[in-house]
Amino acid sequence: MIEILEEAKTGIIEDLKGAEDENALLQIKSKYVGKKGLITELLKSMRDLTPEEKREMGQAINVVKTDIESRIEDKLTEIKESIKAKSLSQEEIDVTLPGRGLPPGGKHPINRVMDEIVYNFERLGFNVAEGPEVELDYYNFEALNIPKDHPARDMQDTFYISDDIVLRTHTSPVQVRVMQKQSPPVKIIAPGKVYRCDSDVSHTPMFHQIEGLLVDKYVTFGNLKSVLTQFIQLTFGKNTNVRFRPSFFPFTEPSAEVDIECTICKGNGCRVCKQTGWLEIMGCGMVDPEVFKSVNYDPDIYTGFAFGMGVERITMLKYGINDIRLFFENDIRFLKQFV
Ligand SMILES: [Zn+2]
Repeated sequence: MIEILEEAKTGIIEDLKGAEDENALLQIKSKYVGKKGLITELLKSMRDLTPEEKREMGQAINVVKTDIESRIEDKLTEIKESIKAKSLSQEEIDVTLPGRGLPPGGKHPINRVMDEIVYNFERLGFNVAEGPEVELDYYNFEALNIPKDHPARDMQDTFYISDDIVLRTHTSPVQVRVMQKQSPPVKIIAPGKVYRCDSDVSHTPMFHQIEGLLVDKYVTFGNLKSVLTQFIQLTFGKNTNVRFRPSFFPFTEPSAEVDIECTICKGNGCRVCKQTGWLEIMGCGMVDPEVFKSVNYDPDIYTGFAFGMGVERITMLKYGINDIRLFFENDIRFLKQFV
């Protein structure tokens, strides 16, 4: 028995050297301390010994058994560690590889053109003013000489929130708000979103406008023509021809619409300008004295002019875009062209 025990002591060391995975380790475990293992058999065979021998032998066997078990346990830890180290080295991340990167973003064409228009007016001495998009009926209509029963209200498909509150249909209410707070001279532009209940190839329910207002003593229609012509030549090029056509707006008198020479055909006539050679780009006029009265400006002392333009329309003309809805579909293929 002592011999077998000695054999087990040396055998386990040899066996463990050759074990490379958990499976091999399990086999070794059952060879020594399993149900039919060497040590188990030894313990069983102690039946025939005297009590004295049993005690001595039992102690010796237990020492070896504990030794074997702890060796197996150590080996198991060792194997697990090496498996972990191996997988870590295989899954290693090379932090020096270049990243995938995100494509650079770009300004939306509407914002680009809006910024450019604002910049050009700032060069002419205008300041930017802003106002709420959810607006009182009073500022959107009444203060601009459009009372409740005025036929001009039919020109605008208004989103009503309540009887007195609307989504502004134009940026003109900003002019009234500024004039209420400030006495002349006033020289502002008001860029922003406006809303009308309308949708087709050239209309969207939300779109952008830029309006301007200049009020001072001795302001004439000649000043209006001069400022707008300068603006147009800054925006569309120095040699762009401009013409003013009589028109009607409730809050200006006299009123005009401004055309520029067609940017596509240079005035020769094409589909975009409907063969006229001209493109309408904004409305303007001398501020109606009724509007001045609503903000307590004395119309005998002060005169002024106002103008307004649709940013989408100008962007379409500048880039030759034929469907306004493209601006709001967020198709990356469309937007990428403006990066
Ligand atoms: Zn044309």
